Amino acid sequence: MRETGSNDIHEAMAGHSNYVGRFAPSPSGPLHLGSMLAALASYLDAKAAGGQWLVRIDDIDTPRNVDGAEEVILRTLEAHGLYWDGALTRQSERLDQYEAALAELAQKGLLFWCSCSRKSLRGNIYPGKCRQHTAHREDCAIRLRTPPGEVRWQERSGQAHSENVEKTVGDYVLKRRDGIFSYQLCVVVDDADSGINHIVRGDDLRITTGRQIQLTRLLGYPEATYLHIPTINSRSGHKLSKQTFAPGVDTQNPNQTLTTLMQLLGLVTPTNALHLSIEELLRIAIEQWRLVATEGRYQPTAIENFVGF
Ligand code: GLU
Repeated sequence: MRETGSNDIHEAMAGHSNYVGRFAPSPSGPLHLGSMLAALASYLDAKAAGGQWLVRIDDIDTPRNVDGAEEVILRTLEAHGLYWDGALTRQSERLDQYEAALAELAQKGLLFWCSCSRKSLRGNIYPGKCRQHTAHREDCAIRLRTPPGEVRWQERSGQAHSENVEKTVGDYVLKRRDGIFSYQLCVVVDDADSGINHIVRGDDLRITTGRQIQLTRLLGYPEATYLHIPTINSRSGHKLSKQTFAPGVDTQNPNQTLTTLMQLLGLVTPTNALHLSIEELLRIAIEQWRLVATEGRYQPTAIENFVGF
């Protein structure tokens, strides 16, 4: 396991609360400006609360992992002064925990083994064909027998959300036929095991929140609070992402990048931002975040219309 380098901000701000937050990048490419925004927002939120900020590498979907991406991601965080607390974790090293969570769901009668091909389903809500197969079968995906009813939660923005997961996604896959555990299951198990109680991440993941809260409740884990920050769009109107070939953040100009990100988050930046040390700049950002975004007050409107590169 890899430990973070120490830095003064940690010593000054850590240990004053039970806040535990995280940034969880997938190593499928370098960090682009949109993922750095999520990294910075989650870091500032944790540090403004005197909490811990963990980093987890979401490398469960092994075919999508890119060689060397993890190293580039970690170097990029460090180049911007974003040092994580404690040991880095990787999903690829936690398969036993996911298996144990599945066993628990199976024991509750909430799983079934499904042999339907993706092609036969054509992206439709699962029609329930294999629901009666509640015991292990070879060469099958494992699906959740999604319980009926609304999953309700309130986001940090104050917005109330509700999703009837049975109707929106139906019986979703928790372990693929190729043996890979699903993102939904891993994130829920990881966050619970690490004691994550505050999740700050990009808006694009809001659509996964209903499923994740549902799984959290089915497994009897404590629930985290959610703050979804807007994503950055490219000029063509698409979210910056690896799929749209958004460029990796340049590590040569960390003050410039941090200043841009602070502005995107609606924070006031000092006029001498480019001449400050990264640590001084982050301290100012933490103070600013404390003013605009402490528990319950952040209204993520500042960057809704931001157009990037
Ligand atoms: N690993 C996920 C991603 O890169 C994020 C996980 C999460 O924040 O829930 O999209």
